[in-house]
Amino acid sequence: MRIIKEIQQLKKILAKQRSQKKSIGFVPTMGALHEGHIQLIRRARRENDFVVVSIFVNPLQFGPREDFQRYPRNILRDCFICCNEDVDILFYPAYQKMYPAHFRTYVYVEGLSEKLCGRFRPGHFRGVTTVVTKLFNIVNPDIAYFGQKDAQQAIIIKKMVEDLNMPVKIKVLPTVRESDGLALSSRNNYLSAGERKDAVVLAQALSLAKRLIKKGKTDSRSLIHKMRQLIKKKKNAKIDYVAIVDTHNLEPLKKIKRKTLLALAVWIGKTRLIDNIIIN
Ligand code: AMP
Repeated sequence: MRIIKEIQQLKKILAKQRSQKKSIGFVPTMGALHEGHIQLIRRARRENDFVVVSIFVNPLQFGPREDFQRYPRNILRDCFICCNEDVDILFYPAYQKMYPAHFRTYVYVEGLSEKLCGRFRPGHFRGVTTVVTKLFNIVNPDIAYFGQKDAQQAIIIKKMVEDLNMPVKIKVLPTVRESDGLALSSRNNYLSAGERKDAVVLAQALSLAKRLIKKGKTDSRSLIHKMRQLIKKKKNAKIDYVAIVDTHNLEPLKKIKRKTLLALAVWIGKTRLIDNIIIN
């Protein structure tokens, strides 16, 4: 595995691979890698000749009062993991290389970026789509791999790729969870032992809804109410939103239909966690 920090150097290496008709799989991350990231990397490894993983804590997607400074960083451990997973290139650019002074171009997916997490994190998805566009332009992958854990992000990126005719296939892989159901997240590192116990309530609320839906309960208002009640029992929990929406336009649905996204964002103490399931 090679660790590359320079954009031009990476482009050169990848042009050579492409000229040899090698397929390129790409996994963009912010590092502090866990089993969720590893599943994406393994899938990329299985399906491509050449695998690039990027680690870049993207300042553009953090709000001014958010956790950019304290976001977990562990590049040594991440290198070790990528090496073990037989990654070809770990792309680890410096901030100034990605956003030189006077950077002024942004990519924004209207109508999706303001919803759900976008309401509580203005500018977040603009930061995500801008950095992902830059990374796609640098890596020019055949397939890019994302996690269902960030459902809204995956939906927005798919729309961006479609709208802007980007020549990349997007694959979205299932959420990897702890044995009690908590979705793996780099931010779980922030949780105290007590908070970690309470954090399972996100997955529990989604399971409760799933059970009720299986029993034939399809009224969104009542399902949301029951999920909120369950979450409110945890003293460390504060709800940003619990939503039942269409998987394409993220518009609220009055009733569960064939493909429905149940998504929530909950603060556990000072840590904001998200989770979701898709009902088929
Ligand atoms: P991040 O480093 O948090 O930006 O995540 C990088 C990629 O890993 C994104 O596509 C995430 O959706 C994905 N990811 C993060 N956590 C999980 C998880 N628990 N299961 C599956 N994919 C995940």
